[in-house]
Amino acid sequence: MRIDIITCLPSLLESPFSHSILKRAQEKGLVEVVVHDLRDYAVNKHKQVDDYAYGGGAGMVLMIEPIVRCIRQLQENTSYDEIIYMSPDGERLDQPIANQLSLKRNLILLCGHYKGVDERVREHFVTREISIGDYVLSGGELAAAVLADSIIRLLPGVLSDETSALSDSFQDNLIAPPVFTRPSDFEGMKVPDVLLSGHEQRIDDWRHEQSMKRTAERRPGLLDD
Ligand code: SAH
Repeated sequence: MRIDIITCLPSLLESPFSHSILKRAQEKGLVEVVVHDLRDYAVNKHKQVDDYAYGGGAGMVLMIEPIVRCIRQLQENTSYDEIIYMSPDGERLDQPIANQLSLKRNLILLCGHYKGVDERVREHFVTREISIGDYVLSGGELAAAVLADSIIRLLPGVLSDETSALSDSFQDNLIAPPVFTRPSDFEGMKVPDVLLSGHEQRIDDWRHEQSMKRTAERRPGLLDD
């Protein structure tokens, strides 16, 4: 899979992809994440990518020209399944959306900043709009990193234990059961006996029970689905 991220602040995206699972996924060649600086596609030598909003009002708007230039250049070599604009008013990201996008080959994630992007970009070039929740961030970069992370960890081979992503919360419409590690007794706070029993079937049953209980308590809506 290849994920191209278009941003006017590329340095914001350096760290999220340089550590742990996302870093290893790239090293293993399971995903290629390429960050593009909108300023490389600026319309003038001042590297301008934003301008005042028509009609007035506070806040700058990302211009259509640099964005479209960048998209078109990417499309010369690659055919994209989706051009996704990160936007607070988009479809709200959830596990089924991440699952669905993890089956795609090539994605563009477009990050807005300031007041957002010129509406014509959304109307004519963007194929999908995704929000990471009903709150407003300063830019789409953190949202794009969240979306990319949720997708990449699902790619086959990314997590060392093949079944690991499947046992995460929201897969199977269930919340994950509690987990524990050493020591088995910390100042009298004990790990449930069943987890120390070595009895695989009993452990599985206990985990399923805990999942059901947690889901009923924390996300009862998932059980209706
Ligand atoms: N004026 C816009 C918000 C702009 S916030 C409005 O009221 O809808 C600046 C940029 O941050 C947006 O263009 C978008 O790319 C990103 N962004 C902000 N909140 C987001 C969210 N919840 N999910 C995804 N992207 C978000």
